[in-house]
Amino acid sequence: NKQILLRSRPEGMPTVDHFEFREVPVSDPAEGQVVVRSLYLSVDPYMRGRMNESKSYVPPYKLDEPISGGIVGEVVSSRSEQFETGDKVLGMLGWQLYNTVDASAVRKVDEDLAPLSAYLSVLGLTGMTAYFGLLDIGKPQEGETVVVSGAAGAVGMMVGQIAKLKGARVVGIAGSDEKTAYLEKELGFDAAVNYKTADNLDEAIAKACPDGVDVYYDNVGGRISDTVMKQLNDHARIPLCGAISSYNSTDGDLGPRIQPQLIKTRSLIQGFVLSDYASRFHEAGADLGKWLSEGKLKYEETIVEGFDNVPKAFLELFKGTNLGKMLVKVSEA
Ligand code: NDP
Repeated sequence: NKQILLRSRPEGMPTVDHFEFREVPVSDPAEGQVVVRSLYLSVDPYMRGRMNESKSYVPPYKLDEPISGGIVGEVVSSRSEQFETGDKVLGMLGWQLYNTVDASAVRKVDEDLAPLSAYLSVLGLTGMTAYFGLLDIGKPQEGETVVVSGAAGAVGMMVGQIAKLKGARVVGIAGSDEKTAYLEKELGFDAAVNYKTADNLDEAIAKACPDGVDVYYDNVGGRISDTVMKQLNDHARIPLCGAISSYNSTDGDLGPRIQPQLIKTRSLIQGFVLSDYASRFHEAGADLGKWLSEGKLKYEETIVEGFDNVPKAFLELFKGTNLGKMLVKVSEA
């Protein structure tokens, strides 16, 4: 067995040196346990927060222990009545080739309904994050303008498409021309702005939103959010989903820095954490599954091959290399 541990806590941008690979034996399953071979592993921006010492809505990773996250795998040995060898399962598991865990730590996924990787992307936490943040807090109405930052990422591209399904005008902000072209041409966004190359981001966003902004789904925070918030309409809603622009920042300048605009427009700004919606996951699962099967929802995955590349894939999230969900294919099904 092989595992990836957190070797040290980063200040600012992490590097591969903050991770350590270790060879360990596969633990034998006790009664009620299963051994799961990792197939697909999810790397997510929130993991950066868990590398810090400070407490958040999920506890920090411990030094010298395997990092954990969403993994889809195959049961290769079972001492639980609930699982048979060959079952495909999903769980929050250690970054290891094999995890020996209680049966309650995993749940079965159906390969006939969707490809295995989809349980870590569109049908997983990212699809649901988009769903609840947008519909529960953003509440887009027909004809309104919805702006989403991090638009070509896993959550962002779901937000934009769900907003389109609700009849909104959708504007995405992303970090390359390839991404903005994808949003406009493949996903039907009404406009997309490249925040890295726009000469004047204020003007570019104002031009993309001639009727102002009714919903701003914020994945990134910082300068981009300051700019979008200047265009808010009265009673705008701002689901605060993520602030990736600050995750590696050491200067503490987090914003929002446009409070007068928020007051003047009586805007609602609300942070949320997906786990708050656990009792309603079935709702999101049903709608997302339905839209997917009807061809109304597209999704994209950037799949890096090989367990040895897990830290690198994680770090690439902060460079924006991924289109859609960043996953690592650990081994063949
Ligand atoms: P993404 O797939 O969107 O990947 C991250 C993307 O962020 C990159 O591709 C990059 O795209 C963009 N990015 C990286 N650095 C910066 C920066 N400095 N400024 C602006 N954009 C940047 O990840 P997810 O979809 O998984 O997550 C999106 C956000 O949602 C994250 O902030 C995450 O923490 C948050 N989240 C929150 C949850 C909750 O419960 N509240 C649950 C899940 C996710 P680009 O090329 O456009 O720069």
